[in-house]
Amino acid sequence: MLIGVPKEIKNHEYRVGMTPASVREVIQHGHQVIVEHNAGIGIGFTDDDYQEAGAEVLATAADVFAKAEMIVKVKEPQAVERAMLREGQILFTYLHLAPDLPQTEDLIKSKAVCIAYETVTDNKGGLPLLAPMSEVAGRMSIQAGARALEKSCGGLGMLLGGVPGVAPAKVVVIGGGMVGTNAAQMAVGLGADVTVLDRNVDVLRRVNAQFNGAVKAVYSTADALEKEVLAADLVIGGVLVPGAAAPKLVTADHIKRMKPGAAIVDVAIDQGGCVETSKPTTHADPTYIVDDVVHYCVANMPGAVPRTSTFALNNVTLPYIIRLANKGYKQALLDDVHLRNGLNVYRGQVTNEFVAEALKFDF
Ligand code: NAD
Repeated sequence: MLIGVPKEIKNHEYRVGMTPASVREVIQHGHQVIVEHNAGIGIGFTDDDYQEAGAEVLATAADVFAKAEMIVKVKEPQAVERAMLREGQILFTYLHLAPDLPQTEDLIKSKAVCIAYETVTDNKGGLPLLAPMSEVAGRMSIQAGARALEKSCGGLGMLLGGVPGVAPAKVVVIGGGMVGTNAAQMAVGLGADVTVLDRNVDVLRRVNAQFNGAVKAVYSTADALEKEVLAADLVIGGVLVPGAAAPKLVTADHIKRMKPGAAIVDVAIDQGGCVETSKPTTHADPTYIVDDVVHYCVANMPGAVPRTSTFALNNVTLPYIIRLANKGYKQALLDDVHLRNGLNVYRGQVTNEFVAEALKFDF
């Protein structure tokens, strides 16, 4: 199969659909790859790197879209890219269609076969192509929180790990899933005093076992949550209720009663946030202060570390890319219900129940 990798064009997007190592891997399976000029330059991969891996480098996105049988990207296609898709062409990328009518209409019109990373499932009930971004965001949340606690950011002026003779900061992580576990791991590593709250006892058992007691695993009642948040120096918001907006677990009243200079990193901001006073911020201006509490609410945290994020994403997308290329989309989709769950628009028809429901399309 001829696989095409265009350069990402969404504002401040530096990731790329395939690394040179991924290119080499699919070529070993007997496929060909065409890559747009400078597709990987934002994370340090030159055209030469791609050529060495066996790809052909083409001058423009139009060249790539015109020839490729499958387009592999990161972000949803922008309007100019959608106009270049054609009937039967496979598009494999993040789509996030439910809140995006113009994109969905264009994908329907293109009659392409559009498979969204974010709705591919696994047999453990997870979303394997979304998970690496939660790992990145969870780990980054401690970096971001440590910075927010510095005096120059309006924070308490406190080092997460303390020093010998000075107590460490108290970090409270709400939600012990992918984000929460990764945040806890980084915070423990820095020597902080870490508590994870979750309302799923199995999650608490896992956290307890994973950290061998070094992290307190607390059942998340309203009472426990209030006590922990009011005592915290840093709160990490990592809850998720699948398919729903994040519950507002930390209220404006809690914020008023928290320590002046405490910090909150609301990772769940991409689902509306789990803190009542959260509003989305950007990497250019990531924090603001409400009632003396520093808020960090960047909705695309992995975008700050595009190199790590690209590798993490490629590690999980590569097996699917190879399967789609080896079998063709029909057989690959027929053979794997989890990949089939990724299919959002198929040759002019919306094929994801939630997207159809949100945008009122026939399903
Ligand atoms: P996950 O499903 O792995 O974990 C969520 C956890 O929240 C689960 O363990 C669940 O039991 C727990 N939970 C749900 N309701 C709760 C409640 N009321 N009290 C306590 N715990 C509760 O999800 P995840 O992959 O860790 O993602 C967490 C959030 O982070 C999601 O909203 C995700 O979209 C977001 N995220 C944001 C960014 C970013 O850049 N800001 C990046 C990646 C993920």
